[in-house]
Amino acid sequence: MSKVRVRFAPSPTGGLHLGGVRTVLYNYLFAKQHKGDFILRIEDTDQTRFVPGAEEYIFACLKWCGMEPDESPLHKGSYGPYRQSERKEQYRQYAEQLVKNGYAYYAFDTKEDLEKMREENKTAENPSPQYDHRIRGKMQNSLSLTEAEVNDLLTRNTPYVIRIKMPENEVIGFTDMIRGEIRFETGLVDDKVLLKADGMPTYHLAVVVDDYLMKITHAFRGEEWLPSAPVHLLLWKYLGWENEMPQWAHLPLILGPNGKLSKRDGAKYGFPVFAMNWTDPRTNELTEGFKERGFLPEAFVNLLAVLGWNDGTEQELFSMEELISKFSMERVHVAGARFDFEKAKWFNHEWIKKSAVQNYTLTVKELLGSAGISVTDEGKLESVLELVKDRCTLLPDFVQQSSFFFKTPDRLDVDAVKPKWTADKKDFFTAYADKLASLSEWNIPGLENCFKQLAAEKNIKPGDLQLPLRIMLVGGKYGPPVFAIAELLGKDETIRRINNAIVVIEG
Ligand code: GLU
Repeated sequence: MSKVRVRFAPSPTGGLHLGGVRTVLYNYLFAKQHKGDFILRIEDTDQTRFVPGAEEYIFACLKWCGMEPDESPLHKGSYGPYRQSERKEQYRQYAEQLVKNGYAYYAFDTKEDLEKMREENKTAENPSPQYDHRIRGKMQNSLSLTEAEVNDLLTRNTPYVIRIKMPENEVIGFTDMIRGEIRFETGLVDDKVLLKADGMPTYHLAVVVDDYLMKITHAFRGEEWLPSAPVHLLLWKYLGWENEMPQWAHLPLILGPNGKLSKRDGAKYGFPVFAMNWTDPRTNELTEGFKERGFLPEAFVNLLAVLGWNDGTEQELFSMEELISKFSMERVHVAGARFDFEKAKWFNHEWIKKSAVQNYTLTVKELLGSAGISVTDEGKLESVLELVKDRCTLLPDFVQQSSFFFKTPDRLDVDAVKPKWTADKKDFFTAYADKLASLSEWNIPGLENCFKQLAAEKNIKPGDLQLPLRIMLVGGKYGPPVFAIAELLGKDETIRRINNAIVVIEG
């Protein structure tokens, strides 16, 4: 078998949503599993839809997810350029070849002609008639006009497009890696434009030419492209490349609460649908991303992988390495996969627990910085993160769970202590602070023993003293085991907080 080469071929029209990144992921996994190449090709032939910043965004997303392409506009390879707008010159010859061989034709129809055609042929059953075998004979094209008329139009530089001539009565098909045999009646498909008046190819021509020239062996894309498959199948055949056609897989939709998952669902239900924050430069509208919401890339990749795929067991947590070895296109479900944000958060929680804290120390440090807490001792931060990570689902949760290690709490939840506060308790904590000053072993057992002994001496149940101690050190009723907190805070700070808190509670 020739070397596996797959491609992700986005149009740079905006941020990447879950479905787009899952397409990247399945391409990437397949390529790596087969020791093949993963190519990123920018499909920017529709210049009216071009959005500045979208391409940079795609690169940043792939980088964040750990899915670097082997070839792309930034990672040079031998099949470039990797931006279709830079390949413009290559496409025309193929379009002309199709015309010459009778598989395509010039169409000179103006916008008005097309509107008129739609108006005149509109019926209740067919509200938007297409340019197809029933219509083409009545339009301005090289099939309906004489050769002399066509030549005349061409010499007068009349703008034209090249359209594929879809056969009236053929059944064609292919075997999809997920869906199996798929058949199409060519007569139901319109004569798609292949080359536009400005000389740019449309997606249909460019995707076939580039998949061929870039020696793509497998093409995986969203199921929304299935209706275009008959056009592409015919182009592979008409260009004489049938034997080189990639194997195709059309990936199922990702479903939201009401059908296909949309940006609107995200806004309505308060969850991200994009990989990273995306600000549309045309409207300044910000769409939130998983990264900024506080997802780890490992978790994001994992949750995407299992949106529509499993390995046949109950396993849900997969690292990238495991996915590379276990993924198979045949096990992708045909039916759409439902996205569940609660489940997505579960994945993140699991990955926060599972990952080495060094993987996210820097991110948490930045989050703390934005909350006004500067951390100078990264070693201490790592110990803190280790201690509190079980309590965090999304990275910003670390701000609440770890701030008090670096900053004396501004406010103490005095109300949680006051009702049961007694002179005995005041006495206990004053003595405890004293004892801690001379404690030789500053560790959890040392702190705990001292606490229990003193409680026994003073005849108070240690259980009644734990909450006040927590409020004194943390400020509120949360956080990891209290002696672990004291251990990390260190002697001076622990004693200071206890003494200060006694004053506040007494006040
Ligand atoms: N440019 C197409 C898109 O943005 C690519 C489809 C394909 O992979 O063939 O979805």
